[in-house]
Amino acid sequence: MTAAVVLGGGFAGVLAAAVLARHADEVVVVEGDRYPSGPSPRRGLPQAHHSHVLVTGGARALEELLPGTLPTLYARGAHRRGLTGDALILSAEGWFGRHDTGAYLVSCTRALLDQVIRGRALAGGRVTVWQRTRALGLTGDAARVTGVTISRAGGPPETVEADLVVDATGRRSQAPAWLAGLGVPEVPEAVVASGLAYATRIYRAPAGLAAGMPAIMIHPGATDGRPGRGATLFPIEDERWVVTLTGTRGGEPPAREPGFAAFARGLRSPIVAVLTAAATPLGGIRPYRDTANRRRFFERTPLPEGFLAIGDAVVAVNPVYSHGMSIAALGALRLDRELTRHGGVKPARTPELQSALAEVADPSWRMAVAQDGRYAPEDAPPGEPAAVPRRARSLLSRAALTSPALATRLFHAQTLITPAAITPAAITPAAITSAAGQDPTP
Ligand SMILES: Cc1cc2nc3c(=O)[nH]c(=O)nc-3n(C[C@H](O)[C@H](O)[C@H](O)COP(=O)(O)OP(=O)(O)OC[C@H]3O[C@@H](n4cnc5c(N)ncnc54)[C@H](O)[C@@H]3O)c2cc1C
Repeated sequence: MTAAVVLGGGFAGVLAAAVLARHADEVVVVEGDRYPSGPSPRRGLPQAHHSHVLVTGGARALEELLPGTLPTLYARGAHRRGLTGDALILSAEGWFGRHDTGAYLVSCTRALLDQVIRGRALAGGRVTVWQRTRALGLTGDAARVTGVTISRAGGPPETVEADLVVDATGRRSQAPAWLAGLGVPEVPEAVVASGLAYATRIYRAPAGLAAGMPAIMIHPGATDGRPGRGATLFPIEDERWVVTLTGTRGGEPPAREPGFAAFARGLRSPIVAVLTAAATPLGGIRPYRDTANRRRFFERTPLPEGFLAIGDAVVAVNPVYSHGMSIAALGALRLDRELTRHGGVKPARTPELQSALAEVADPSWRMAVAQDGRYAPEDAPPGEPAAVPRRARSLLSRAALTSPALATRLFHAQTLITPAAITPAAITPAAITSAAGQDPTP
């Protein structure tokens, strides 16, 4: 009889639970929140008010884990947008040509994603969810985690025993402190903060513009030592658009009108301002500031047996890269493969599993830190890749605007189809010329 307890029933938690249900006899999810009955945001998930797109690598992993999820999302109103064929993307160097690169994104509200994924992950009755139940700490010692301390609806602490405890409590995970309480050495942590701030509003699309609206992404232009102003507009379910404006200290997007509209008009292209002026706002403007890249290197400490961490608790990248949910899905898929290889949940194997999960998140972390490290060199952790030199980056981006082969390489890396990040070493003028030369239609 093996029992697994998953702490946190968000994106990573329910996927981990679905995987563990195939390899353990009993699986319990401990979730501090109460799930809403429909596709609506909840307190424990403040980011759900903001745009959440699933990139190709994550969408494929999700479909492999829970077959039928993507068709269900599309049937419920999610949109698939090809990159760059169904998108208008203004990079720092100009507009991308509209090519079929095979990369795409899935766009809908985070609330719909969660409702559909939770429904499918927890179907079959093999997973029990304890809602309004908070994890307070771990039990055991530095060699072996034996369970978790919880509080149900603010009640007194209780201990629950488990062969495996999986931390999926997200970006604000307390697991390093909980482990320290058992005598485990410090979990090294790195934070690289570009200072980017979000402001998001949802709109009803004007008649005639709901169907077929491309995904719109306005990247910041030339840098001034901080990330510049940008915007995205994604079509979501029920003929709505989710519009996010981004900026940084001194140039943060206002969370009130008329500042929000004025900020959009001041961008490098007025397209988002023009479209939103014709649309109907639904609800207020939501700000969000906790966008730092944060990594907890659990695999670098002598972890006790019987403990694992997954999702944002391990690597939470700046949301502007749209990778977090995909890292969680790719991590859950890897967990499934590793557990199959090891013949089920074996507490002694968990440090090895943690290294596998770190490996899955690594390309995304490197990509995000290489980008944001430019704005926060003081944060750049030792051993992380240096930022791509501006000239090389600009050369690559400019060539990719018109080269389908380069755009394919770029978007396959950005949407986590290929695990390798585009590193500074890969971007040389010769490599770019040679890749562009492979275009069937240069
Ligand atoms: C503004 C913003 C925009 C984003 N946009 C994108 C995007 O476009 N694409 C993308 O892929 N990713 C995006 N992300 C990242 C994405 O939100 C996360 O990567 C994803 O939610 C990670 O899932 P998780 O399960 O690890 O954490 P969460 O989804 O945050 O879930 C954590 C869960 O743990 C519960 N919990 C926390 N503490 C406790 C406790 N002590 N006891 C019990 N339960 C607890 C919470 O209630 C919650 O349900 C964005 C993030 C932000 C902030």
